[in-house]
Amino acid sequence: MSGDDKFDAIIIGAGPAGSACAYTLAKAGKSVLMIERGNTPGSKNVTGGRLYSYALDLLEPGLWEEAALERKVTHEQIMMLSKEQSVKIDYSNPAYNLEGQIPHSFTVLRAVFDEWLAGKAEEMGAMVACGILVDDLIEENGRIVGVKAGEDDMYADVVIAADGVNSFIAQKAGVFGDLEASTLGVGVKEIIELPAKTIEERFNLKDGEGTALLILGCTEGIHGGGFLYTNKESISLGCVFTPTEAAENGRQIHDIFQDMKMHPAILPLLEGGQTVEYGAHLVREEGFRGIPQKLYKEGLLVIGEAAGFVINVGYSIRGIDLAIVSGIAAAQAIISGKAPGPAYMEQLASLKLLPSMKAVDRYFDLLEIHRLYSTYPNIATDVFHLLFTVDGNEPPNVKKEMLKILKENNLSVWQLMKDGIRGVKSI
Ligand SMILES: Cc1cc2nc3c(=O)[nH]c(=O)nc-3n(C[C@H](O)[C@H](O)[C@H](O)COP(=O)(O)OP(=O)(O)OC[C@H]3O[C@@H](n4cnc5c(N)ncnc54)[C@H](O)[C@@H]3O)c2cc1C
Repeated sequence: MSGDDKFDAIIIGAGPAGSACAYTLAKAGKSVLMIERGNTPGSKNVTGGRLYSYALDLLEPGLWEEAALERKVTHEQIMMLSKEQSVKIDYSNPAYNLEGQIPHSFTVLRAVFDEWLAGKAEEMGAMVACGILVDDLIEENGRIVGVKAGEDDMYADVVIAADGVNSFIAQKAGVFGDLEASTLGVGVKEIIELPAKTIEERFNLKDGEGTALLILGCTEGIHGGGFLYTNKESISLGCVFTPTEAAENGRQIHDIFQDMKMHPAILPLLEGGQTVEYGAHLVREEGFRGIPQKLYKEGLLVIGEAAGFVINVGYSIRGIDLAIVSGIAAAQAIISGKAPGPAYMEQLASLKLLPSMKAVDRYFDLLEIHRLYSTYPNIATDVFHLLFTVDGNEPPNVKKEMLKILKENNLSVWQLMKDGIRGVKSI
């Protein structure tokens, strides 16, 4: 792929950020080359995953109706685990899925979704080149003018780094420094195939409906949590946690995941299933506070997770929708004909991406409370055990027993109050 052709834009990475950007630019008549290292878009990507649909509608109203999506999420669940017990909260809201309106969110399989979205960009006229690794940027007089891939040099008015977490392109350009391991989570995930009917019976779902389940207390006290999403004919099960803490605890990521899988509340959900995919991936954990003031350099814009756009508030994780929105923001900045860098930052604000990240920034402090990852799930299951046990003996004094539970879990009432206040302040 050598030649003197110059593109309006070269996009590095065909994840949702890159494809949304390519789609919007190509639709506006710009010449776009999107380069993806995987043999197909999505082949290297790992997500929980759930996609909040508003982002697809922002890309193109009505596009979601033909999108490669799995199930619309009708059940939001949070589960807390202790060694053998579990407590589950189930939230459902018909307003999320009203007839004739775009459903609130969908489960997705990235290999399928990413390939579909890149295909849509291609339909709009973008050129998608897969199986090519971008090795370097080409810089002339302090401006990025193109990319290098193997022996090939390719040129464009603007280069867009959409290469995901730990973006080596953003680092090369000096937009980000080296990322610290403590600011990243590592996620492991399995896709387990099951017939649609079994999934629907097991999770109490109607045809096309889905569950998004987040799990606390499955990481042995390490900062992080688990997830389970129902797809059409499979389940995505995984967990994300801080790799440095796992190493400090001398624990293998695979073992922690395996223990979660074997938990009596999880295993029956997977019974009879066949594992068809196993993957691991990093994810940004710092949120707004990890994002530099400037996400561009002359001739270069940084979008999606490469720019740090992930929101983790404990009960949900958002990266795909933000990736799509930032791709649109970058494209609109370029189309506007203004200086792309500052225009991109303006678009990120007007499309409410940066304000949204800022608004939930303090959740980071809440999620820093380590007791969330084992003490509180243990206490929750102990309290439910106390409330639900009927054995013919005189029922215990609940207040006295609750204080005993706190003590057994090495938590004072004062500490509980302090965490409560910190929690309220964080949200
Ligand atoms: C375990 C886990 C669970 C998650 N769950 C969710 C969820 O449920 N919902 C949600 O919204 N988000 C979730 N996320 C976050 C979400 O996956 C990411 O935020 C999102 O994928 C970012 O999209 P992106 O397009 O910016 O980057 P990516 O999807 O990472 O795409 C980057 C692309 O660039 C390509 N690439 C990289 N380097 C090069 C190169 N040098 N040359 C060419 N190509 C290159 C890659 O192959 C890849 O295709 C999860 C993440 C993990 C790890």
